[in-house]
Formats: sequence, structure tokens, C-alpha cells
Amino acid sequence: MSGERLSAVRRRVRCFPDFPVPGVLFRDISPLLKDPVAFRALIDLLEDHLRASFPHIDFIAGLDSRGFLIGPPLAQRLGIGFVPIRKKGKLPGPTESASYTLEYGKAELEIQSDAVEPGQKVVIVDDLLATGGTMRAACELVKRLKAEILECLVIIELKLLKGVEKLESVPFYSLLQYD
Ligand code: AMP
Repeated sequence: MSGERLSAVRRRVRCFPDFPVPGVLFRDISPLLKDPVAFRALIDLLEDHLRASFPHIDFIAGLDSRGFLIGPPLAQRLGIGFVPIRKKGKLPGPTESASYTLEYGKAELEIQSDAVEPGQKVVIVDDLLATGGTMRAACELVKRLKAEILECLVIIELKLLKGVEKLESVPFYSLLQYD
């Protein structure tokens, strides 16, 4: 059953070579979003995984921008709230920010300072882990607010880039792995 659901998800991820820059094989989840059966299978699998792993989660935090597509439906299933972690300059009010390295240059992520309380239990979600720089910056933000990161969760992990090593001791889970 869960093998069938995983196949339904895998079939709806497609690749585009040399996007957005030469040398990158872009993993596109648009077909997954377009197919309600496959998208339901995705959220089912993530819900089952989180329910089996953690007795209590306070919030799902999602990364700008494709973490916003899976975070809210997953949070709804679990009956909990969603917190956005956004690119610099998008969130009003007091924020915490953390910079991270991209292939060319640097970028910054932000979280609202009142997004989570100290000690609250958070799962951070995104579509994909590549070098791990984005997820690491998100972890830094959640830790700065003194919340507890239960897990970093993605649909797709690009194994060869060893992004998991950047997350150090933070637990990590991916549904699909590619070299
Ligand atoms: P990184 O910080 O290198 O782990 O990059 C992860 C972020 O960049 C995620 O938010 C992804 O959406 C995006 N990303 C990086 N590489 C790819 C790729 N090959 N295909 C699709 N998205 C990617």
C-alpha cells in the first residue's frame, strides 16, 4: 500500500536538465501538485511518517517557496499550525534572519520573532534537499527562537550533494532519494 503510494509520488516528479543554470538537473514537483491522487498520496505518506515518529508536534515550518505547498496541507491533516520561513524582506514586524550560501553568492531567510515559543516542537519542511544550505539556515532560525526541531522533512533528497551532513545532529527524513 505505502509502496504504491510512493510509486504514485515518484512518477509525478520530472527532471529538467540545465535549469535554472547549466549543470543543474532540476526536479520539478509541478506534476505532483497537478495530480490530486498523487498529491493526496504524498500528504498521506508524510502524515503517516510524522504520526508514527512523534507523539506531539506544535508546528510545521515551511521554507519559501515550495515548502509552502506541502506544509499547510500536512499541518491541517495533523490538526496543527503552519509557520512560514521566508526569503529576506517579505515578513512584517520583528524578524530573525540567517544568511546562507547559494551556488553563486548568498541569500537570507527570515522568521517572525513571535512565530514559535521557546520549547515548542517544530518540523521543518521543504520540497528538496540539495547542498543543505537552505535547510541549515532554517534550522538556525528555529533554534534562535529556542524551539525544538524534531525533524527536517523533504520530499526529495539529492544524496550525492551530502546536504544531510550540513544539518549535523538534527534528525532528517526524505521520501525519495536520487544520486
Ligand atoms: P540547497 O540549499 O542547496 O539544499 O537547495 C535547496 C533549495 O533549493 C530547495 O528549496 C529547493 O527547492 C531548491 N533546489 C535546489 N536544487 C534543486 C534541484 N536540483 N531541483 C529542484 N529544486 C532545487
